[in-house]
Amino acid sequence: MILPSRIRLCEVGLRDGLQNEPKILSVSEKLKLAEGLIEAGFKVIELGSFMSPKAVPQMADTDQLFRLLNNVEGVELRALVANKKGIERAIDCGCKKVKLNVSASKGHNLANINKTPRETVASFAENVDLAIKNGLEVSGSISMPFGSPWEGLIPIEDVEEIVEAYVEVGIMEISLSDASGMATPKQVYDICSSMQKKYPFVKWWLHFHNTRGMAIANIIAAMEAGITNFDTALGGTGGCPFVPGAAGNVSSEDVVHMMDEMGIDTGVDILKLIELSRGLLAELGHEGDSYILKAGRSKDLLK
Ligand code: ZN
Repeated sequence: MILPSRIRLCEVGLRDGLQNEPKILSVSEKLKLAEGLIEAGFKVIELGSFMSPKAVPQMADTDQLFRLLNNVEGVELRALVANKKGIERAIDCGCKKVKLNVSASKGHNLANINKTPRETVASFAENVDLAIKNGLEVSGSISMPFGSPWEGLIPIEDVEEIVEAYVEVGIMEISLSDASGMATPKQVYDICSSMQKKYPFVKWWLHFHNTRGMAIANIIAAMEAGITNFDTALGGTGGCPFVPGAAGNVSSEDVVHMMDEMGIDTGVDILKLIELSRGLLAELGHEGDSYILKAGRSKDLLK
């Protein structure tokens, strides 16, 4: 098995995790959590999103959080945006990195915004220009490239079309996001291998939800295909409002623990991370989806 010696994780709990929670954390609680994640060693953190506060009240204070945490040396703080208004908010609060998203499902896109995924990405051009002119970096995400509840498997040509549309508007960092939890390891290996071969200049990220227990296996498959950037969320928090029964993101502590045991460097301190996850779930008032929080580390058995 050929695996990398080091990988990079982006902690998405503050965005993907908290946006699905009925309990809204205060900006000071979020700040404490973000500082804890930085202290634990995360170099990339998705801090929030610039969406309509009416639609996503959990993320309404993302601007404030960026102002409080701005410019942490060596740490990339990114946010999800959907439109021009979001980019303007990002510029205004000093956010330096934004991520746009499109669903790979034609049915989903047409029903929601009456555009195909490719047309949606093409319509981002103006926003990307505005962001770049103001010194922001822009990345793109494709949700459900491994399958959607609307049409099942998505033909790889359709996903490639979206990748090409992103590249055309100047986005060279792309995340493949299994929000529906339908990806399988072989499919992940095949798609990641083919995408990297075809678009070697793109920086790839993989984002797995653990809806059907395959997220960890999918990460291994992606690593075997040469991918080294993954999103994870502490406590396995998260969900997806569009997908019935969607579970949270793969838990950060499960991923860091596995990498530690396999000698793959993540730069993250597992003990600090476990403490943060426990603290967050206690605050949210429910259990998470995390094996390590239940069972502890393998090493702890040897005491
Ligand atoms: Zn997600």
